Amino acid sequence: MPTTDRAARRRTLDALLRRSPLQPAFRARAARRLAVLAYHGVDDPAAFRAQMEHLARTANPVGPDQVARAAEHRRPLPPRSVLVTFDDGDPTVLTRALPVLARLRIPAAAYVITDLIDSDHPYWWTEAAHLIRRGGHTRVLRGLGPDAAVHRLKALPDAQRLTSLAELRATAKRQAPRQRQLTAAELRELADGGLTIGNHTASHPCLDRCDDDHLDAQLVRAHDRLTTWLGHPPTTFAYPNGNHDPRAETVLRILGYRTAYLFDHRHTALAPADRLRISRLRVNSHTGRDRFDTILSGLHPAIHRLRGGS
Ligand SMILES: [Zn+2]
Repeated sequence: MPTTDRAARRRTLDALLRRSPLQPAFRARAARRLAVLAYHGVDDPAAFRAQMEHLARTANPVGPDQVARAAEHRRPLPPRSVLVTFDDGDPTVLTRALPVLARLRIPAAAYVITDLIDSDHPYWWTEAAHLIRRGGHTRVLRGLGPDAAVHRLKALPDAQRLTSLAELRATAKRQAPRQRQLTAAELRELADGGLTIGNHTASHPCLDRCDDDHLDAQLVRAHDRLTTWLGHPPTTFAYPNGNHDPRAETVLRILGYRTAYLFDHRHTALAPADRLRISRLRVNSHTGRDRFDTILSGLHPAIHRLRGGS
């Protein structure tokens, strides 16, 4: 199906779901749950502003420390609590999200990949897709298009992912373009503006695909860099790709983390039962108003699961 048809079909479905007789019941239930929204960058500033204004009017925005306290003391947050989060440290969090969040006094958290800070390296998945489009190849990815190849790379043992990336670089006709990343000074600017900066590992491997030493190093290196840059240790974490790993949980506990977030498209309890495994809902700035409503109500996540989404 062409992309435009698919987008139109999706809009129709979103409009239908919003009118579903189930929506009020879902909305009432969602008011008694915590919605942690997981954004990446902000590609549509006007739509993002509308989403945040909607939250400021209808929800109770909370910060990561409030979520941590609610989980630690098993004391529920107020109804309709929402936490806004951003993964991967896209520079639009600084240029587009921060001004809106500051104006509306909405707290938020940004989870950054520390090896990319002060660099111009692309995200590894962006780089891999580019290299494949430029003829890069390696045995384990034979016959796969860019999206399928990235999917496959995430499933490989991490050492093999790194070897495969090196092979793609060696065989592609052109290297991936450089990518603007945040600097350490900009991280401080975000923190000064009221965002909580969290650990999202050093280089964004799927932790469940890492051996013990590599996993420890990923968490500790990012922790140390953030402690230096921010002047205090970070206390919140987001699992890359949402992939939970019990070994990571142990390391996070030792390092003093108060909360860690998944990427599982679910609501969580107003007093999260497991503070190192808190669910999040997937959204984008271009998520339409109908879908944004049904994501917040939990109807979209429920339908998504019924259709076999993870
Ligand atoms: Zn990420």
